[in-house]
Amino acid sequence: MIPLVEHYCIKQSTDNIEHVLKTCNISRYTCKQCDIKTLKPFHKRGQCTYRRCDCKKNVRQTCPENEACGVIYDQIKAIHAFNDPNWLNTDSTMWSTCPWEQMKCYIATPGYKETKTICDADITALVQISSNNREINALIGTSSGYLDEIRKTRNEIYHSSLMTVSNDELKDIVFHAEICLKEVSTKFSDCRQEIDHQLSVLKRISIEKFSVTKQHESDAIDDAKIGIKDSLLALKSE
Ligand SMILES: [Zn+2]
Ligand SMILES: [Zn+2]
Repeated sequence: MIPLVEHYCIKQSTDNIEHVLKTCNISRYTCKQCDIKTLKPFHKRGQCTYRRCDCKKNVRQTCPENEACGVIYDQIKAIHAFNDPNWLNTDSTMWSTCPWEQMKCYIATPGYKETKTICDADITALVQISSNNREINALIGTSSGYLDEIRKTRNEIYHSSLMTVSNDELKDIVFHAEICLKEVSTKFSDCRQEIDHQLSVLKRISIEKFSVTKQHESDAIDDAKIGIKDSLLALKSE
């Protein structure tokens, strides 16, 4: 999913910036100072069709580059399936330089503000972007329900104390993932090679007989030790 979301991340940011240059009649968009907490949207309050919108708040500041950041605000809101982006995840002072800062507004769950690139996104973020971003959602189309099933199953496994997966659950995950991948592959040929590879991995997982050996257990314990050590180091350096 990363190549797909990354493609749209760059495409939409480029489209949004092109729209800014035309609408604001400027030759470059370089603003690095507008804060989403106080930014005034470009559209006027009287023309607003949204139920919830920042144009209805009184104390708002206009972007000094001919309202450029306000135009980006409008674009991000328009592409959101429910016109309700999560502004808590974005640093709007980087909208002119970092496409990921625009895409992060489609992640409904807070806590992604510190992620610097799409590679820091987890499956929850990618699934939410795919559902909430109109263009990506149109591509995944009818299989977006399957995508949500994958996210739910993944969360159930991760949040269970045993982290076990039954054969039936695994079959479901593989089944839903195959449907999504095939649908995206027909509509987005740039990803076809990567998708074919992922499909072959899924096929292997579904036919492989897998039994847990002492070696697997010992490897898992070693991995957990490394993870804990890294987390402690990260905590110390903060
Ligand atoms: Zn409005
Ligand atoms: Zn600005």
